[in-house]
Amino acid sequence: MAPADPDLPLRQAAVETARRLARDYDDLVPLERLREGFWFDGERISFGSFQRGIHRARIQRGPAALTLVTSFKDPYADTFDQVGALFTYAYRAGPIDQPDNRALRAAYELQTPLVYFRGLAPSQYLVVAPMFVTRDDPAARTVMLEPGLPIQDMQPGGLVSAPDVRAYATTEARVRLHQQRFKLEVMRAYRHRCAICALRERTLVQAAHIVPDIEPEGIAAVVNGLALCAIHHLAFDRNVLGIDPDGVVHIARRLLDETDGPMLRTGLQGFHGAPIALPRRPEDRPDRARLEARFERFERAVA
Ligand SMILES: [Zn+2]
Repeated sequence: MAPADPDLPLRQAAVETARRLARDYDDLVPLERLREGFWFDGERISFGSFQRGIHRARIQRGPAALTLVTSFKDPYADTFDQVGALFTYAYRAGPIDQPDNRALRAAYELQTPLVYFRGLAPSQYLVVAPMFVTRDDPAARTVMLEPGLPIQDMQPGGLVSAPDVRAYATTEARVRLHQQRFKLEVMRAYRHRCAICALRERTLVQAAHIVPDIEPEGIAAVVNGLALCAIHHLAFDRNVLGIDPDGVVHIARRLLDETDGPMLRTGLQGFHGAPIALPRRPEDRPDRARLEARFERFERAVA
């Protein structure tokens, strides 16, 4: 069994705050909020500098890192993203026993939970907590990271979840990572505007999948995405609005025949026959085959 970590209550507070922020910000937490840190024992504690990567808080009594950060620009970042790949984290450059590397390796020796921040865009972080260092490879100068279950009452020893739980949590974290990246790429490609009505209110514009993400063709890639405002996204998902392979909007006949207020008249009927706005870069534009497959479903649904 691993030796006891005197910082467990501090870690508990860090993990709880990090998980709450991930929920509050729909998984992508702005750096300016993370910079506020978290509260422990009436004191404000920093989550780290977000530049150095490996952070141990000043008030800690134990040797292990409290948080790890992978920056948006990190050259190693893409090694996390291969299908089936595990999360790995590289030592800092320099001697293996310099302070940051000691803190990283102590997290492995103590098998203690920490908070992992993964930059997905400038100043935007995906949060994985609790994260555990489950393997240390000094020859390759990397450690392996695996997420675990939230721990209600942290007891020394036995904190790392069982292998099947870790595998499940790793898959779940990777899905979150891909979904968030998809969202960011779609928003960038469509410049945060609804492809149908051009609304640019960030709180109301969403990344929609053309082919739903539960299907094999429903990849989380920008070619399977559209930026749509909440009403057009829902209308698209519910098949009262279709987009044909040429990018032309179709409104279900049932709705075209109806009489109602301005949302129906202007917001839906008004776009019947109108082209969607496409991203400037050809490689960001929706894949024709996916639009076609999706439009067939709309036609079946309204037939
Ligand atoms: Zn719209």
